[in-house]
Amino acid sequence: MFVADYHTHTPLCRHAEGTPEGYVDAAVAAGVAEFGISDHAPQEPEPFDDWRMSVADLPRYFDWIARARAHASGRIAVKAGMECDWLPGNEAWIESLADRYDWDYLIGSVHYLDKWDFDNPKWLGRWADADLDALWSHYWETYAAMAQTGLFDILGHADLVKKFAHLPEGDLTRYYEPAVVAIAASGAAIEINTAGWHKPCEEAYPAPAFLKLAAQANVPLVISSDAHTPREVGRDFARAITLARDAGFTETVRFEKRSRSFMPLPELP
Ligand code: ZN
Ligand code: FE
Ligand code: FE
Ligand code: ZN
Repeated sequence: MFVADYHTHTPLCRHAEGTPEGYVDAAVAAGVAEFGISDHAPQEPEPFDDWRMSVADLPRYFDWIARARAHASGRIAVKAGMECDWLPGNEAWIESLADRYDWDYLIGSVHYLDKWDFDNPKWLGRWADADLDALWSHYWETYAAMAQTGLFDILGHADLVKKFAHLPEGDLTRYYEPAVVAIAASGAAIEINTAGWHKPCEEAYPAPAFLKLAAQANVPLVISSDAHTPREVGRDFARAITLARDAGFTETVRFEKRSRSFMPLPELP
């Protein structure tokens, strides 16, 4: 029985709240097996945007991890990661971030298409006359390219592009299939990200049809809350375990110093 929550944030990104002690206590209360910290990584050139830590914040981030570990001692393992934005061509930057700490894992996420951070509620108006097929193609090609870099242990919220419930017509398998092929070839894990249930799309990331394809392709899986406040740690994990099992997954992944082991998913109740 093992489900960790490896995707959680800190106030250093300027849109999350809480203390390391508060998150650790919430993780213990939620009953997750390990608590992982993965705040939005810095990106050059700075200032890049207003929703991530800066390079100068990194010592404070390492201090946050140390405080969480001290508070958790003997109760729950605390894992160290970051949620990095993959931008076409920023591979050297990600590699330099990878060298700055003894990370347990790095999450790669696509929040940007060209210069547009499309999941930012600030730009909601732009969706009104968007060409959804073109946008979705661009998003999934970017996501597959991120997988192909091999830089990340976990690929974040795979269909984030649905966040505001703007979906192209028809069967979306045409977008999922090539992405799953690229992800499976890369060896990276994906996550069921339960935050989607609380967004306008009202569906966890990624969609059940995507999860079925990923399970068939033996893509490794983690379950994540993407908590931006302590009360969100481990949120909806029973529902996510059911979703994972229904898609055909039987295992989840544990990370330690960027190497992984497979653990059985809990049984359905
Ligand atoms: Zn965030
Ligand atoms: Fe994200
Ligand atoms: Fe996140
Ligand atoms: Zn995220």
